[in-house]
Amino acid sequence: MKKYIRKNILELEPYSTARDDFQGTGISAWLDANESPYNNGANRYPDPHQKKLKQRASELMGVVPESIFIGGAGSDEAIDVALRIFCEPGIDNTVAISPSYGVYKVAAAINNVEMREVLLNADFSLPVNCILDATDAHTKIIWICSPNNPTGNAFPKEDIKELASRFNGIVVVDEAYADFSAKGSMLEELPHTPNLIVLRTFSKAWGMAGLRAGMAFASPEIIGYFDRVKYPYNMSSLVQEELIRRIEQVPDDHIEEIIRQRQKMERELKDIPCVEKAYSSDANFLLVKVTDADAIYNHLVENGVIVRNRSRMPLCEQTLRITVGTPEENARTISLLKGFKN
Ligand SMILES: *Cc1c(COP(=O)(O)O)cnc(C)c1O
Repeated sequence: MKKYIRKNILELEPYSTARDDFQGTGISAWLDANESPYNNGANRYPDPHQKKLKQRASELMGVVPESIFIGGAGSDEAIDVALRIFCEPGIDNTVAISPSYGVYKVAAAINNVEMREVLLNADFSLPVNCILDATDAHTKIIWICSPNNPTGNAFPKEDIKELASRFNGIVVVDEAYADFSAKGSMLEELPHTPNLIVLRTFSKAWGMAGLRAGMAFASPEIIGYFDRVKYPYNMSSLVQEELIRRIEQVPDDHIEEIIRQRQKMERELKDIPCVEKAYSSDANFLLVKVTDADAIYNHLVENGVIVRNRSRMPLCEQTLRITVGTPEENARTISLLKGFKN
């Protein structure tokens, strides 16, 4: 693994926080961190290692705490930290599929890391050989979003496993939407895939986008580098407590309802004149090919419904990405689409 890590990170003397050395009992006065001594519920620095939260996450996800990183800026934080661990700015590069989630490219640009994009096949399947062909000795990370945003499809695990086994570098699989998919998760492959990082987020199925919390799962060795590179207090104590309180259980009811609604919408969309195709989805949104995306987008906006126009993305001409909402919101969207006259 060391050969993939930037030299400055390998040599880094990590910041040691005031709270690292004396966690636990028997302390009568914390006079080490220049905090206010007056208890208002937030006057103390949070646990930089998020021990309690990781313990809960570990039980939920079936992954040991040493294999978990929790980011306080969602899984977007994990994307940025991964770039800073593995990619030497101006020298190394990363490879992503296209179309896909926009943050990989922006985060790479901010870190001055070249991004190489490989077009998906026309049916949105994974072009494994083309992705490997796009790599060279300086490629450190391949980004695979599965289920993919905005196309909605999950890639077969066999394809991702093949990619990981043939690539000399890190494969990051972003599973932000895995809770909505029946096609399985790469999490099970972690123990025997040392170059794998799996991203999950609390923002989608878990219903906590406002809290800003995401997870990365990888070998304890890789997570050790995440811990060195992240800002020490990257998640507030209030958010840690709130997450522990809220993640008592997976929100299965909502996930099932969203999947039912997605299937219902897929069926209903088929019969609407301005809809050419609703791509089958493993996520909580639908990519829909329409006759005139700009006009239909405006028609929805004028009626108070905001969707995402993805027409300017590769392979996505004349498409809208529609998030599955409440039954009422979905019915209203369907009815507005029915009412659109070409
Ligand atoms: C929404 C989304 C995320 C989540 O980002 P957070 O920063 O955790 O809110 C990550 N990846 C993809 C592909 C997404 O669509």
